[in-house]
Amino acid sequence: MIVHLHKNVSKELALNLAEKYKATFFENGKMVLVTSSKIKLPSDEVKQAAEEIFITDSDIQLASKQYMPTKREIRIGDLVIGGNSNNSLVITGPCSVESEEQIEASAKFCVELGVNVMRAGAYKPRTSPYTFQGLGLEGLKLLDKMRAKYGLKIITEVRDSSHVNEVIDYADIVQIGAKSMYDQGILRQCGKTKKPVLLKRGFGTTLQEFVQAAEFILSGGNPNVILCERGIRTFETKTRFTLDLCGAAWLKENTNLPVILDPSHAIGYAYGVPDLARACMAMAADGLLIETHPNPKEAKSDAAQQLNFEEFKNLYASLKKVAEAVGQKVV
Ligand code: PEP
Ligand code: MN
Repeated sequence: MIVHLHKNVSKELALNLAEKYKATFFENGKMVLVTSSKIKLPSDEVKQAAEEIFITDSDIQLASKQYMPTKREIRIGDLVIGGNSNNSLVITGPCSVESEEQIEASAKFCVELGVNVMRAGAYKPRTSPYTFQGLGLEGLKLLDKMRAKYGLKIITEVRDSSHVNEVIDYADIVQIGAKSMYDQGILRQCGKTKKPVLLKRGFGTTLQEFVQAAEFILSGGNPNVILCERGIRTFETKTRFTLDLCGAAWLKENTNLPVILDPSHAIGYAYGVPDLARACMAMAADGLLIETHPNPKEAKSDAAQQLNFEEFKNLYASLKKVAEAVGQKVV
């Protein structure tokens, strides 16, 4: 149950009610209480304090259509996704920031093509501790330099809760990776900012678990959450993961959060990325995340899946056509 409290309710009373009903409390223009979804009937004192009450089926609450029937609008500076925008935000860039030369080549490529948001990880959550772990703060500073020099917006990921605030300061969108989706420290810290957060689905999580992770951010008071489907683990081993487009359809139907699709990490091989990306766009996705590298063979992470600039340029032109066919606009 979600309760919007009346303006005249004191904060003291709000906190007392939160304590009594074991509710999460946050302020976002309004004072909001969120109890377990098992509570279906408000008590008299809650009714009295409430301006509006929303009863939800499950602990997908703030992200539910029962709470907000239309898709949330998320602003990334002057860019908008969700709401009534029909915008598809096509994000590209390398898996990792590797050097100034590499990230500058990527930034120039984005600007020349008209891509507004560049991706690149500075803190990489790798599967092996013996591989490249990212440049850390030095990488964030390089991204910042590219933002200032080329007017790009930046999405970059947090690896663990030790540097969330650092990443929040440098990023226009904070990315929480598939392996970090359950990290309470990261989720709760991201709930304290208003920065847009792209939450990737863990590759072994159900849709319910995925959206409940988003609830940690929303119930911390950050309304700017974007979901990202990036492939789940199935019995299939020929591709890296299996992109759950059925899941994407479910999220669109049952949540109020914009959904970005990541074909690169899903298939894991560059040959399949263009076709898969077009299929994603045909679903009228709110955005796509596609890895590109000035020289994919030399990439320090995810070398097999990154497109070279020529491949992405061709893909980008065709994505615009697919977008138009389904009533979307590439931004
Ligand atoms: C990435 O975006 O480079 C990444 C590590 O993705 P994921 O968390 O989906 O594996
Ligand atoms: Mn990657």
